[in-house]
Amino acid sequence: MEKYLSQLNEAQLAPTIQKDGPMIVIAGAGSGKTRVLTYRIAYLMSQGVDSFNILALTFTNKAAKEMKGRIADIVGDGEAKNLWMGTFHSVFAKILRFEGHHLGFPSNFTIYDTQDSQKLMGSIIKEKGLDKDIYKTKQVYSRISSYKNSLITVKAYFNNPELMEADAMARRPRMGEIYQEYVDRCFKAGAMDFDDLLLRTNELLTRFPNVLAQYQNKFRYILVDEYQDTNHSQYLIVRALADRFQNICVVGDDAQSIYAFRGANINNILNFQKDYDDVKLYRLEQNYRSTQNIVNAANSVIEHNQTKLDKEVWTANDEGEKIKVHRSLTDGDEGRFVASTIWEGKMQNQLKNSDFAILYRTNAQSRSIEDALRKRDIPYRIYGGLSFYQRKEIKDVTAYLRLILNPADEEALKRVINYPGRGIGQTTIDRLVVAANGYGKTIFEVLENIDKVDININGGAKNKLKDFVTLIKSYQVMNQTANAFDLAEHVTKTSGLIREFNKDGTPEGVTRLENVEELLNGIKDFVEGQLELADASDSLAEFLEDVALATDLDADKGDEDHVALMTIHLAKGLEFNNVFIVGLEEDLFPSAMSMNTRSELEEERRLFYVALTRAEKKAYLTYALSRYRWGKLVDSEPSRFIEEIDDEYLDIITPIEERRINPMLSADIFGDVNPNKIRYKPAKQVVLKKGNTAKKEVEKFQVTTPKNLKKVTNTNGNTNLFDSKLVVGNVVKHIRFGTGEVLKIEGAGADIKAEINFQHGGVKKLLLRFAKLEVV
Ligand code: ATP
Ligand code: MG
Repeated sequence: MEKYLSQLNEAQLAPTIQKDGPMIVIAGAGSGKTRVLTYRIAYLMSQGVDSFNILALTFTNKAAKEMKGRIADIVGDGEAKNLWMGTFHSVFAKILRFEGHHLGFPSNFTIYDTQDSQKLMGSIIKEKGLDKDIYKTKQVYSRISSYKNSLITVKAYFNNPELMEADAMARRPRMGEIYQEYVDRCFKAGAMDFDDLLLRTNELLTRFPNVLAQYQNKFRYILVDEYQDTNHSQYLIVRALADRFQNICVVGDDAQSIYAFRGANINNILNFQKDYDDVKLYRLEQNYRSTQNIVNAANSVIEHNQTKLDKEVWTANDEGEKIKVHRSLTDGDEGRFVASTIWEGKMQNQLKNSDFAILYRTNAQSRSIEDALRKRDIPYRIYGGLSFYQRKEIKDVTAYLRLILNPADEEALKRVINYPGRGIGQTTIDRLVVAANGYGKTIFEVLENIDKVDININGGAKNKLKDFVTLIKSYQVMNQTANAFDLAEHVTKTSGLIREFNKDGTPEGVTRLENVEELLNGIKDFVEGQLELADASDSLAEFLEDVALATDLDADKGDEDHVALMTIHLAKGLEFNNVFIVGLEEDLFPSAMSMNTRSELEEERRLFYVALTRAEKKAYLTYALSRYRWGKLVDSEPSRFIEEIDDEYLDIITPIEERRINPMLSADIFGDVNPNKIRYKPAKQVVLKKGNTAKKEVEKFQVTTPKNLKKVTNTNGNTNLFDSKLVVGNVVKHIRFGTGEVLKIEGAGADIKAEINFQHGGVKKLLLRFAKLEVV
């Protein structure tokens, strides 16, 4: 342990080794807050604190995993395994599995993801005959979500005339009714949505003092990372659990609070010292992540916020290069600039793809960047898109699995009752929903008693429904003895799903099949890691829980070399050698929707601060003078955030219209296009306003590219071995299992299989048709 403690500076050491009592570490970006938390956990264990008694809450599952890995390096694998570490949602989902019965939930309750919740709200709005243009599902969803995160239950809602008034003013007087119905339906379906995981935990801890005492006793040491972004519900949980021993350590940076729009409450960090007696406050000031230029630039921007705690951040790192600011004519040009800069960086400085991150304010901005990266053959990955588990085919399979475990799960049932098609029509399904609501039963219960219930469904349709029930019940029987993998494989084959995906023979169909195969691989991995579990159905339940809470960020196995593209919100806590912050334009960043109040604008500025402080060595700020938004070309002005940075840290690099004079200069911008063949055609005039300075006229050009120009390519593509010859002894790489050696080849044609001994994961047999392998 001594060796590890010596990797901390004095300021970091103090909170790391203060064993007991409440404490808060408030410090700027990159100053080692997460490192302190990590080392502190290892230190506590070295001081005899039982690993079972430590609870650490992180912002993403990925962060938890990394932290656990680091702790395992220090204290050894075995002990680290026992730590309770994860996001609020994943930790409290686990607790609710054990304790949910107090609240009337089955231990195998389903977790509804956002898609499920929104579907259910959509049906409720429809059932009630409400206007879906006024009761927009997404808006209703976020409204109900915000009630839940503020602990406003249905009852509290109806006792709060102000809230009801506000909804009525927003032309949604029946919000409360929808809320009520939604909560009832989730309860009946044995389902909790994401917000329920926190809300119900609060309910549990408040209503059942014995349960609270039990977990207070268990979690004697509690640690929370990114505390500035906790919401009210999370805050109350932490307070309740820490109340007995008060060994609570939170770390955060008020300047990085960026989730107010989702209910995060910056006051949690600002008021922490009032919540406990004798709180020790620690500050860290030395940044280890970034160059001086980056640190100073970030400081100079955040200075513009009025609401902030005073903090010093400095670094002993090199001064580094100035931050490059690049202006382009269009978003397309911006993408090309980013791609060519990455390309050069890789060529000239031997950087890897993973040394680069491209951060943007909104997901929609990724498209033009992606186009440019693809043209340069630069591998990239978009984080925060649809997670693997939210893809249609994956949700189809998991819906069956959910239904097996929890037949009350209404959303799962509705998804699969007629998929693959069994001739059960929408009218029948609607009638089932009505009957279930009428009887106060679940749809599955109605199905089980279809001959006894009063329902207008003809005999033929009834038989189809009975077949469906028989099918699901046969799976349930199998689930008593089979493990999750065997069950899932059986389900995909016998439900007709595989046949369904196979049917169309389109490339999309093939991708679907590959994804299902990948899902099965994942379940297999999971089952192998869970062998100690005695009860087979437990492993399925746990797997489904992981699935429900998985985010796209977590799926990163860290073994692919790619450029990372993500929104700034997702980049919190991460670091990259080179960072591009793109789309720095007024109305985009800061966002047009966040400029009505000072506090909204200040949150945007904090977001910019988060973005800039992700960079270790180099940061690029880019903006375009015009950009396609909502299908229209709109003119834009540079973001005020660029102006707010002290000039001395900036390097304004040659703007694109000056490069026009010398086409050769454009080579690095246009990348795959021969610059001599680019023709410029003046388009309409654009007026560029920069702050209050005089208006400047800029000519805008359209670039026309002659067809059939030779593409500059490089060789980063994956090889699909189905087309090539794979022989025993080849060393191959798989995205999930890493590298491995081919032991055996068997089968022929589309059924060729290879047995491969992977470094991670051992021997696996893979269908070459599906396996994404690369010879190394
Ligand atoms: P953020 O506010 O962005 O979450 P943070 O305060 O959590 O940042 P860390 O991620 O813990 O900061 O640390 C930033 C970087 O500095 C990491 O790469 C970390 O390993 C490194 N670092 C932290 N402390 C030290 C130290 N004492 N010596 C060397 N490197 C350090
Ligand atoms: Mg951190």
